[in-house]
Formats: sequence, structure tokens, C-alpha cells
Amino acid sequence: MKQVYLDYAATTPVKEEVVKEMLPYYTGVYGNPSSLYTAGLEAKDGLDEARRRVASLINADPKEIFFTSCGTEADNWALEGVADALGDRGRHIITTKIEHHAILHTCEYLEKNGYEITYLDVDEEGFVTPEMLESAIRDDTILVSIMMVNNEIGTIEPIRELAEVAKAHGVLFHTDAVQALGNTPVDVKELGVDLMSVSAHKIYGPKGVGALYMRKGLRISNFMHGGAQESKRRAGTENVAGIVGFGKAAELAEKNLSGHIEHSRAMRDRLLERIESNITGVQLNGPRDNRHPGNLNISFDYIEGEAILLMLDAYGISVSTGSACSSKSLVPSHVLDAIGVPITKMNGTVRFTVGDFTDEEDIDYVADTLIKVVGRLRELSPVTGQEGW
Ligand SMILES: *Cc1c(COP(=O)(O)O)cnc(C)c1O
Repeated sequence: MKQVYLDYAATTPVKEEVVKEMLPYYTGVYGNPSSLYTAGLEAKDGLDEARRRVASLINADPKEIFFTSCGTEADNWALEGVADALGDRGRHIITTKIEHHAILHTCEYLEKNGYEITYLDVDEEGFVTPEMLESAIRDDTILVSIMMVNNEIGTIEPIRELAEVAKAHGVLFHTDAVQALGNTPVDVKELGVDLMSVSAHKIYGPKGVGALYMRKGLRISNFMHGGAQESKRRAGTENVAGIVGFGKAAELAEKNLSGHIEHSRAMRDRLLERIESNITGVQLNGPRDNRHPGNLNISFDYIEGEAILLMLDAYGISVSTGSACSSKSLVPSHVLDAIGVPITKMNGTVRFTVGDFTDEEDIDYVADTLIKVVGRLRELSPVTGQEGW
């Protein structure tokens, strides 16, 4: 049976060139990069090259890149590190209602520890405006954290304008750019951010590797305590092979950026066109412009997203309902809730995300199958056509 993976926002396959570059670091070059003999220095060279490549992708200096165990760790570090370092100056942090759980659950933890968090509303397409941010800033605000691209509905936030507002008030600005990296230009200097989280497995690199960009001169508290790795800022023997893989993935992402965006958009738009012209009772969630090029989030009236997911899976198609991270919980998506999608539509929501290995044949197979599956589920649905749906 044909297999089609349309969940690139959850994770991406690791590109072969990436694996090839990683393998020697598991076998021949296994030295500890902190060791001073040749085998250690070879591993250290691998780290340095990866740092240059990741830095280049976001226009940072290699000294501003600190590798972590994942995007989630980078988010935790940014928030807790600033909270701890600046807690004497103020205890107010601003974020949004549509952040990834790596931010929201860290904020909940900080609330339990005496910090006050403001969760900004977003408009019906998921956008935060500079005005909304401006009116939430107080004298005791120490940090603003707003994601660059939303993982569920693909909204690309106006980070440059938002960071400018924070800067004008002397407040630090962090952005979770995990979904943005490789899918839209990301330039830390142009954006004017102080801190940025990124992750390897969303850009065709390995799982379990991330990085925190920290603007030169900025000092926040450490999150991992131990040895002197990562310029004494992030302890723990580095995941050398994983970091090397992140570096290669970053190099490929930089080279292919415009091609990747163009291809993703073409595949995504082809699927959207097929759905909108063949299935009634559908709604695209999130914006049509300023959107992640590979993201589609659609509500289907009268049926459950879970049912669509399971039936598509039986045809070899992988998609996600709402967000991968909440697919095991019954709590409806906090993102769809924030943009005002009613609960009945929320339940019928599916996220399709395409990427570099998606081709037209895949899209046509998914569209044909989806038309069949939605038709069959609606025939079975007891609520089709009823009020309230
Ligand atoms: C995937 C993701 C994360 C978490 O990254 P991991 O490397 O999986 O920990 C954080 N934020 C966003 C927006 C994501 O999409």
C-alpha cells in the first residue's frame, strides 16, 4: 500500500546526507569533545563546524549558539534562565495563548514560583499585534516570549515589530522559532530578538538536538548544571553526532530555503484546492497569507478528526488532529480555542503538513482518499445536518 506522511510539523524524516555526516561520529570519531588529545579535538571540530552552520542559517555569530537536548529544553532555559537572572528586577512575563506547551507549561511552573504571566489574546487568524503587546507591558515586565510560527495553524507572527516594542521598553524578547526555521527566512539581527529556540528534527535533522540563540553580551542563568561545556553555559557531554547532524540539516536548509518554500506551498495549495472544490462544510483555520508554507489546518463539519485520522491511517496516510502534542488528551486545542473555533468544528479538525519528500502523486492520493473517507463518515454521522453542528 502507498504510504504518505503528511505530518512534517510533528517531525521530519532525517535526510540521507545528514545521516551520512553523523555516522562517523558514532564509530571512528568517538572522543569526548572536552578531551585535549587528538580524538577529542576531532569531535570538537565537528561541534565547531555545526555551530557555524546553525549560526549561519539564522545570521548569528557562532558564539551565540548553545546546543541543547531539544527545542523544549531551549524554551525552558530561555524562560527560567531570564526569570532567575532578572527576578529581582521584576516578576512579570508576557506570552500568548497559542504557544507550544514547552512555553505554556514552563509559564505555569513559573506561576507556581511567584511569577505573574500575561497570556495575550490573538485575532481570529492567530496574529498578535504590537498594540496588544504594548498595552500589556508593565514596569515589572522582564520578558516577552512570542512564537515565530504557530505549529497548529501556521500563523507567522510579526516578530520584528513585536521585538521592537519590547526593546523600546527595555524588556528582553524570546521567540520559539522551532516551526519557523527552514520554512521562512529567520535572521536574528533583522528580527532584533535576544533569545531564540530552534530544533533539529523539524528541519530534516535528528531528534533530541536543539539550540538556544543568546544575543552576545546577554547573561541568563544556567538551566543544566555540571561541567564546563558550551562555554560554561550548558553542562553535559554534547550529543556530538546529533549536533553534527543538526549542522548538516541547517546547511541544507539554508541552501534550499526558497526551493523548499516554493515546493511546500505548491503541494499544500494543491491539497487545499482539491479539498475546497470537492468537499462541502470545510473551514481553513489560520490565515491564507503570512502562513507556514507547508501547513494546512482544516475543520470538517459533522465528523470527528480522530475518525478521519484513523481511517486515513488505514490507507497508509499519516496526519494529525489539532496538534501532535495534544493528540493523546481530550482537551480541545488551546490554539483553535484562542482563535474562536467552536467546539463542534474543533472536534472535526485535521492538520496536514507537507515537506520536501511530498510529491503531487502523494497529494492526489490523499485528496482522493480524503474525499472517500469524509463522505463515508458523514453517511454514518448521526448529526449530519442537525442544528448545533
Ligand atoms: C516541536 C516544537 C517544539 C519542541 O521541540 P522538541 O525539539 O520536539 O522538543 C517547540 N515549539 C514548537 C513550536 C514546536 O513545533
